[in-house]
Amino acid sequence: FDQRDGLIWVDGTFVPWAEAKLHVLSHGLHYGSSVFEGERAYGGLIFKSTEHSERLRRSAEVLDFEIPYTVAEIDAAKALVLSKAGLSDAYIRPVAWRGSEMMGVSAQSNTIHLAIAAWDWPSYFKPEERMKGIRLDMAQYRRPDPATAPCHSKAAGLYMICTISKHAAERKGYADALMLDWQGRVAECTGANVFFTRDGAIHTPIADCFLDGITRRTVIDLAKRRGFEVVERRIMPDELSTFDECFITGTAAEVTPVSEIAAHRYTPATITATLMDDYMSEVRPKAQAA
Ligand code: PMP
Repeated sequence: FDQRDGLIWVDGTFVPWAEAKLHVLSHGLHYGSSVFEGERAYGGLIFKSTEHSERLRRSAEVLDFEIPYTVAEIDAAKALVLSKAGLSDAYIRPVAWRGSEMMGVSAQSNTIHLAIAAWDWPSYFKPEERMKGIRLDMAQYRRPDPATAPCHSKAAGLYMICTISKHAAERKGYADALMLDWQGRVAECTGANVFFTRDGAIHTPIADCFLDGITRRTVIDLAKRRGFEVVERRIMPDELSTFDECFITGTAAEVTPVSEIAAHRYTPATITATLMDDYMSEVRPKAQAA
């Protein structure tokens, strides 16, 4: 992946893809002082670009560093990356990290870097899996207690337990893993939020100790616009057998139906299909929607 053609924006200049490197003594690598975003462009426009730029800056502030670019500058840089890449539908990955001047837990004055790359990433899951719904395993790790970890930051360090959990699920033939939170409640997947339906209503966990996804909030709004009841509440794993439909949401995953969580089966139906369609028309720039 690091040997592609193309350009990556690094600290304000474009660098050939294969040469966009950082020093091995970077604080971000050793101590996890790194935050990132995942965004998608549709028809040449980044969906909710400013919300993502704001979240990136907030994620960094939670880790006690300030990205040396304003939200407007980050928005402009992302748009430039996209147009230079000549992509209209693409995935955009900004990442910010603490540099390499000082080595130690404390590195107060290290330079803060920002890089932005964009590439073609059609669908998070294989298209054939997506249509019939993906299968989820239960993750071995739980989302940490907000008193233990900066859980509202999209911090690279929080993804360590996601990668371990997703690898374990994939080895068993599942597409992803469902994570519980520190109290044993249903939380989210390793890179997406989760929703359920029962008797025509939509249920989703309260995002109090994991990422309140931009897609999650978009889908909640779309569901309410359709007149569906949306209930954000505590969902325990013993309820998993009582739901009709299940789907996950995320920038990369968009709205993806789920057919199975460990032993529980779901049949993707009207609510999931409606929200998949509504989401795809919401993200398309309006001039192109017709
Ligand atoms: N949870 C996790 C752990 C994620 O990585 C993501 C993807 N950023 C989400 C939820 C969904 O967030 P969004 O809808 O903002 O992409």
